[in-house]
Amino acid sequence: MHKTLSLISKRRLFPCQKMLAILVGCLMGGCIPLTVHGQQRAAELVLVGGNIYTVDQARPHAEALAVNRGRIVAIGSDQTILPFIGPETQVIDLKGKFAMPGFIEGHAHFVGLGESMMMLNLHQAKTWEEIVSQVEKATRTTPPGEWIIGRGWHQSKWDHAPSPNVNGYPTDFNMNLAAPDHPVLLTHASGHMSFANEYAMRLAGVDADTTNPKGGEIIKDENGKPIGIFRETAQALIQKVKTQADNQRPQIEKQAYSQQAVELASQECLKKGITSFQDAGSSLATVRTLRQLADQGKLGVRLWVMIRDSNERLHGQLANYKMVGYANQFLTCRALKRSIDGALGSHGAWLLSPYQDLPTSSGLNTASIESVTETAKIGIKNDFQVCVHAIGDRANREVLDIYEQLFKKFPSPFPRRWRIEHAQHLHPDDIPRFGKLGVIASMQGIHCTSDAIFVPQRLGMRRSQEGAYVWKSLIDSGAIVTNGTDAPVEDVDPIASFYASVTRRLTDKFTFFPEQALTREQAIRSYTIDNAYAAFEENLKGSLVPGKLADIVVLTNDLIQCDEADIKNTRVVMTIIDGKIAYQAKPE
Ligand SMILES: [Zn+2]
Repeated sequence: MHKTLSLISKRRLFPCQKMLAILVGCLMGGCIPLTVHGQQRAAELVLVGGNIYTVDQARPHAEALAVNRGRIVAIGSDQTILPFIGPETQVIDLKGKFAMPGFIEGHAHFVGLGESMMMLNLHQAKTWEEIVSQVEKATRTTPPGEWIIGRGWHQSKWDHAPSPNVNGYPTDFNMNLAAPDHPVLLTHASGHMSFANEYAMRLAGVDADTTNPKGGEIIKDENGKPIGIFRETAQALIQKVKTQADNQRPQIEKQAYSQQAVELASQECLKKGITSFQDAGSSLATVRTLRQLADQGKLGVRLWVMIRDSNERLHGQLANYKMVGYANQFLTCRALKRSIDGALGSHGAWLLSPYQDLPTSSGLNTASIESVTETAKIGIKNDFQVCVHAIGDRANREVLDIYEQLFKKFPSPFPRRWRIEHAQHLHPDDIPRFGKLGVIASMQGIHCTSDAIFVPQRLGMRRSQEGAYVWKSLIDSGAIVTNGTDAPVEDVDPIASFYASVTRRLTDKFTFFPEQALTREQAIRSYTIDNAYAAFEENLKGSLVPGKLADIVVLTNDLIQCDEADIKNTRVVMTIIDGKIAYQAKPE
């Protein structure tokens, strides 16, 4: 795939006349020495005429760079890079365009992103009725008895509450009429809640007598009948039967499905300028599939994977799954993932004091302190990083306590770079603990503006201001803050998350506590070198310096200088990974 694309680009992007003249002049004069100090000098790829933002503090700006064998070999002015052009070099004139290190997605779900592109997309629906009709349409092309799955609904984003509803959540009533012969499973945008119709609940054996599992809730109506909404761990009741059905498919079909998901996710990332992807939780079985695909050169972007599996399995098998820089730096696996609470949108975030709009609840603790501590100890034993999902202030405090206690008990000469995934809502006392303990706040700029419409309802104004999405306070207190999208929860687009990070603006009229906005330089760091640091990869990627991977994105706008309003219109011109053009926008 790479080869064909780069040939096309060679024709289309041949350097401008002036550059050509210099090049021909040089060649005729024989001024290109093939070696300097015994090193090969002619590069495979040279970018010239660019507005390159390197994210290297020693040399933030450059015009040109040279690449050999997938690595940057030199960077500087056009003049200094010209000698690297040989007869075989592919030369790309950036014509003043902005280039920077490829985006590193700091927390998202790779296979989930691909799979989300293979099911009903409910993100855009403005009403529950719209979703019902999307499902009804799908019944016409799906054999009876087969699952209809979808993702992305969000009750807070609908024009009006569904009818009938329980606390604003839809019931299965309309869906049962629309899809009486198919099991339906529709995951909430947050991933922390699911809707199932009557057929699916029947397959799962869920009825009025089914009790709530630990860390979850089956929402029931006033008569005690489940309405089809399953929160947090209760989702597993339905998911289990869906997985059983999937497992019965022939092996070859399952493999083709995973491969298609990985392909779709890779293409989607490259199209959006992402060259590395930090996957926030794959089972050991999924890691085996990813390793196979890496062996076949079928991972389109570089993956850094957190393993999410049972403590029992991790105890027995983890050592066999450690991979650092596997398959030419396309697969690294040396981190573990747990979740200790749910999400704010679904009232699942675990709070120190109750929700303002649900005073009977302080959220859900979805995994015990003992069990998360056990996972963290497995991490220490195997030298894996530990990454725990924590959204509410209680959840964050508990995880910081676990980390602090283990850091004391098992001192390390180097920071372990353990992470808290999301770190969305913090008690002010806990903000400085991130920097002090060296715990990385793995956050998502886009969650702030996407959630802002309901955060003050859930937390009230004071808690929202003091502790919600406080990137700036965290950085000011010495923490590393990383960036990402949690795709498929949000679109994987880094530009939208970058815009949210530097503006915190939802609409012209509403900005969510702008004092916590990042500077553009900080936001770029959060999406490049700081994400690299959070994966022990800062010597490999995240800035454009000689020796690092040639993973580069070219954009239509200068993200440092352009007008704020133009940030959102920024498009990807080209994505280069491993020194090869992997995506190129069609000319306008
Ligand atoms: Zn996630």
